[in-house]
Amino acid sequence: MFSLNFEYRVGGKRVSPDQFGGALEDELKRKMFDAITSRVESLQCPDHRESPRLKEQAPSGDNMNFTYSFCCEKLKELAEAALK
Ligand SMILES: [Zn+2]
Repeated sequence: MFSLNFEYRVGGKRVSPDQFGGALEDELKRKMFDAITSRVESLQCPDHRESPRLKEQAPSGDNMNFTYSFCCEKLKELAEAALK
C-alpha cells in the first residue's frame, strides 16, 4: 500500500468572518474538499481497476490533510497529476 498526503491550503481563499460569518467559510471549505475528494476517488488504476481509498481526512489549522491509499505507484501518480 502506498499512501499520500494531500495538504490543501485554504488560507489564501479565506473569507473574512467579520464580513460573511463563519458559516460561509465552512461552506466554502466543504465545497473545496468535496471537489478534491471526488476528483481523486473517481480515478481508477488501469492495471488493477482499483480506486484510491480515503484513509484519513484531518483538519490542521487552515489546512486539510487527506491521506489516501493506493494499489500501486501508478495510481498514486495519477492522483497526484489530477490535483495539479
Ligand atoms: Zn494499481
